[in-house]
Formats: sequence, structure tokens, C-alpha cells
Amino acid sequence: MNMLELIEKKRDGGALTKEEITFFVTGVTNKTIPDYQISAFLMAVLWRGMTDEETADLTISMSRSGAVCDLSSIPGIKVDKHSTGGVGDKVTPILLPIVASFGIPCVKLSGRGLGFTGGTIDKFESIDGFSTTVEPDSFREKIEKYGLLLGGQTEGLAPCDKYLYALRDVTGTVPSIPLIASSIMSKKIAGGADAIVLDITCGSGAFMKDRDAAEELARQMISIGRLAGRPVSCVLTSMEQPLGRCVGNILEMQEAYQTLQGKGQADVETVVLALATEMLKMTDEYKDASDTELKNLCRRKIESGEALSKFEDLILSQGGKLDSSSSPIYVDEPFELMTVFADRDGYVSACDALMVGEASCLLGAGRMEKTDVIDMGAGIRLCKKIGESVKRGDALYSLYTGSHDTVGEDRLDEALQKMEKAYSISDKPCEAPEEILGVIRK
Ligand code: URA
Repeated sequence: MNMLELIEKKRDGGALTKEEITFFVTGVTNKTIPDYQISAFLMAVLWRGMTDEETADLTISMSRSGAVCDLSSIPGIKVDKHSTGGVGDKVTPILLPIVASFGIPCVKLSGRGLGFTGGTIDKFESIDGFSTTVEPDSFREKIEKYGLLLGGQTEGLAPCDKYLYALRDVTGTVPSIPLIASSIMSKKIAGGADAIVLDITCGSGAFMKDRDAAEELARQMISIGRLAGRPVSCVLTSMEQPLGRCVGNILEMQEAYQTLQGKGQADVETVVLALATEMLKMTDEYKDASDTELKNLCRRKIESGEALSKFEDLILSQGGKLDSSSSPIYVDEPFELMTVFADRDGYVSACDALMVGEASCLLGAGRMEKTDVIDMGAGIRLCKKIGESVKRGDALYSLYTGSHDTVGEDRLDEALQKMEKAYSISDKPCEAPEEILGVIRK
């Protein structure tokens, strides 16, 4: 077997055997296949696609390319949740404590943000002292004691995916559905999940720009799950505008905290409850409960303060600091740079997630390069969102930066231009987009 034959087979539309895929994954992991051949292969996959069997074989082989977390000693079904990325996505810090407050063990391995989408690890690291470096050896102890943990994707997990993802990033081969599906699922399987709930975001601020692509990604992930013996549920959510009103690490954690206090935004709560319902349905105890019943139970976990108390456990168990009123102490204090006001009456008809995400990144909330240092206090607060009426002079949005940091004038100008592009105000009333576009189950 040699790599040239595999490239040619895929180029000509052939389906690779399990052995050929294993050969490829082993070669990438051991660095015996040169980057130019890997890149050519990835481009062939992008154009020719993969069968469900090929995608599942690639996923399983990548999931075994490094360390595999064994969570079997933790009793119960371990359900992991993953989002395909979005702007203002503060779902995990709210969802995990809610689900854990049902006594369901939650182990979440998350990533850092790159580009306009934020990363959960960065958001948690905006809390003073919080550490996401949790060794797999201590998972069981932490879960038994606290019921939940949040870790960074450890170096050794699915190293083949890590290598491929970096090459995809620079060879124009990211937007291939089999490559995205196998990339995400290989990490979830290596992370030890028994069942997986996926938030597949769809819209301008997501990888999947339209509904058909989001549905196809969901279908492929479910098919991988079936072939790998892991039930998968997919919730398709809208990412036409940012989720909630805050974008940026500390701002989003503050909004998450308010949601756990029962003072959250309706769209955030809707998405969190839809995902929590799917996670609960994966367990033996709640598999037959109705969606309405489960959503009500989740609401009660917020109202009773149980979810908030789990959140505090999570913060303290990973070294984070709380103040005397039990709210997190952040590494910084967001500093309001300026507020932009509406210059006319009307209704907000667009608040483009991609533009807002890019503007927030320019303010310092995200990384343009992997090595960039994030300004935790930077970000944007959206005073108006799609469907809301505005009067001339109303605040539309505010821009923030960390108190100790400043953003250069060029970057600020660029961020303001993006925000101007993000917003449209129309004369006619318009509807806010539905948050949940559909649920596709195992
Ligand atoms: N997230 C991943 O982990 N991989 C992809 O390919 C896309 C999004």
C-alpha cells in the first residue's frame, strides 16, 4: 500500500477500505506521510466526499491515534456535548451545571477559540485561578466529589486530528462535511463519551451556513455514532445573530451566571434547555420523559438554585475564585470603550453573527493566530437584537476592552466598521429567528 495509490483512488471517486484508512491515519500520526501528500488527499476528500463507512472508519482510526480516556469506572452514562461553534455561545457553563444537578456525571472536554468563534476553555479561564488542566487520572475522583468537570482537550487525545486540522486550516480543506464530522467525533470518542449531544449551529456565524449543510453534518455524525456504538442527538440551532446579548469571554461568563440565577436571556435559555433535554434523554432514568417534562425539570433546577450551586462547585473544584456573594472573580473588569446609538427609528432586521464575532475578535476577545493572547475583558454587548424596535438615539451596542489593555485605533475603526455592517434597521417590523431549527436523533 502506498499513499500515492490512495490519493489517486480518492481523486477518481473510489471508496477506501478500512485498511487503507488505517494506513493513512497511522502515517499521519507517525509523520511518515509528507504534508504535500496529506494535503492532496484532503483536497480529494473535499471534492469527492466519503461514504458513511469511510467516514466512520476515519473517525474510529483517528480516535485511536493517541490516548483514549477510559471513563468506564465512573458509574452511569457519560454524555458529552459539543457545539460546532458560534458567536456568543455561552451554553456550556449553563448546561453542564443544570445536567449535573440531576446527578448525571458530566465530563466535558473543550477547546480554545480560534477566529471569530469563542472557545469554552478561554471563557472559563477568564475566572481568576480556574484551571482547565485536569489529568485523566483524576477524572474519577473529581466526578465522584463534584459531579462535573471541565478539561482542555489534552495533547495526547486524537493527535492525528490535531495534525490534520492544522493542515486543513492552511490548505482550504476545512469545509468538508466528512472531515468536520470525523474531526469532532474522533475527539468525543477518544474523550470517553458513551453518548454525544451535538449543537449544530447554522447561519452566518457558524461553519454550516445553511440548513441543508447543517442537516447533512447531523446525518453524518449520527451515522458515525451508530457505527461506533455511541448514540448521537443533534440540535440544529440558529447562528444568524449572536446568542444572548454578550460576546467576549468575561461578558459571556457574566451572562451565563445571570442565566443560572434565573435572569437570563430567553434565546440562551431556549438553546440550553433544548440541549439539556437531549442529554437527559440519553440516560436510563429520563429516556422516556417528554421534552416538556424535562424542560420544566431543568427550569426548576435553575429556580431552586441547584444549578447555580453546581456551577460554584465546578469553579471551586478547579481552582477558580468566588467572591463573598459566590459570584466568580474575573481576571479583569470589562471597560466600556464606547456605545453606538441608532440614527433612525425602525426595527432591527439584521445583527450578523459573523460580523459581530469578527469585531469582537478585533477588540481582543479572540485570536487571529493561535499564539495571540486574549484580552478577557474585551467584547461587545448588544443592546438591540433582531426583531426589536429602536428609536433614534437608543443604544444599539457597546464595545468593551480589558481595563489594563487598549485597542489600537486601526483595530477599533475596523471593529466599528464591522459592527456597522452587522446591523440593519428596517421600517417594517420583523421576526427574530427561531433559535431551534430542528432536532435529529439517533
Ligand atoms: N471543529 C472541529 O473540531 N473540527 C472541525 O473540523 C470543525 C470544527
